[in-house]
Amino acid sequence: MSTTIDKHLHDAKCTHKPLELINEKPIDYSADGLFGYGKIQLTTYTEDPEVKPIPLAWGHSNPLSRGPITPSRYGNGMYKHNAIGAHAGPYSIYHALAVGSKQLKLNHKADYTNAQPPVDFPQQPQWSGLEKIVAMDPFGHLAPWLFSDVSEKEGVEIRPTISITKANLQLTELKEEVAKGNLKVDGEVCVNSNGDLHITKLAVDPVWYLPGVAKRFGISEGTLRRALFEDTNGMYPELITRPDIKVFLPPIGGLTVYIMGDPKFVSDPSKKLALRVHDECSGSDVFGSDICTCRPYLIFGIVEAAKEAQNGGSGMVIYFRKEGRALGEVTKYLVYNARKRGGDTAAEYFHRTECIAGVKDMRFQALMPDILHFLGVTKIDRMLSMSNMKYDAIVDQGITIKERVPIPDEMIPPDSRVEIDAKIAAGYFTTGKVMTQDELKNVQGRTWEI
Ligand SMILES: [Zn+2]
Repeated sequence: MSTTIDKHLHDAKCTHKPLELINEKPIDYSADGLFGYGKIQLTTYTEDPEVKPIPLAWGHSNPLSRGPITPSRYGNGMYKHNAIGAHAGPYSIYHALAVGSKQLKLNHKADYTNAQPPVDFPQQPQWSGLEKIVAMDPFGHLAPWLFSDVSEKEGVEIRPTISITKANLQLTELKEEVAKGNLKVDGEVCVNSNGDLHITKLAVDPVWYLPGVAKRFGISEGTLRRALFEDTNGMYPELITRPDIKVFLPPIGGLTVYIMGDPKFVSDPSKKLALRVHDECSGSDVFGSDICTCRPYLIFGIVEAAKEAQNGGSGMVIYFRKEGRALGEVTKYLVYNARKRGGDTAAEYFHRTECIAGVKDMRFQALMPDILHFLGVTKIDRMLSMSNMKYDAIVDQGITIKERVPIPDEMIPPDSRVEIDAKIAAGYFTTGKVMTQDELKNVQGRTWEI
């Protein structure tokens, strides 16, 4: 089955019209306003006679036989939807605000004219079956075009969960790399003396096939469903009432892939691939906080990826929205405080996080390699990461890692020695020294006066 979308393109002009419906009714500020729009149905049940979900055969190689992912209750979706949750991860709540505040019509129909990917990502064998991809929809970038007939016929909303585009990256460090002669201007990957990098990028929202996710974590599907239901204070009752629905769109951040070089090369085993898998750290990545190595390692990853592309291979940085080891920034700053007040040593680094969060890390890399399977990656020549968790997750998925490349010592900010030495002692890859517990007590971070 070809997944090319050419025949599905429609070249009509965008039919979107400006919104007319804004607060057309007097606003009822009382709680009773909740009931002003007819009966509210809290959930559906598998045994409801009206329930007839659109068929969805996860892992089928033919997208039309696999079927679309349709969580939406809009249109005829109440009894026809085949996925739990809502589109766009955490942004689904902003969508609800737009609808609730009457700035968005409930029946808004997206017009995807000219929004299709500019680059073709050919279907990979890994897209099929129940093992390789369980946390994203491999047909997510083609959904509106592949399933436009289903959407029309069934009267349901079908949205993409992946989008693909091209852009340039501009980062001050890249200009310095060009000045140092570390990055060459070639007009293709690095397009000018500012070090601007030409890239292809993919945004991916999570789509979970629950039996597959449960299997990755070594638990039953029922245990997973119950934990998701109860730990979110009952946000998604269909996790319990609709065991026939196997797909869930979780309200969590997704990922972005930045590819340097020809995107086709990432799945070509004859071409070298350099890869950095990076988990979000807004404080360092964007604002340059010096307590950790995140931005320096991100920049190192981008530069090395660009160089691999210039050497005839390709390079990738995959950026996951898992702020603060997926504990969130609020927890992260509390941990910073506890570290700074309690004597910030490498020996105590993980313990401080465990005191507050109960665990030292919630990133759980088990689902991370799905994007590599989507891209058709079968081997990584240079893995620009020291994380043993990322390494193990990738290798467990049958993808070979030929070389692991640690961040160069000179790129480590002074106050983040605590972090990097603690991580190395806990199993992170290094070509340098692994410290003993006693030596870790002497690796001290900056303190602040209270
Ligand atoms: Zn960081």
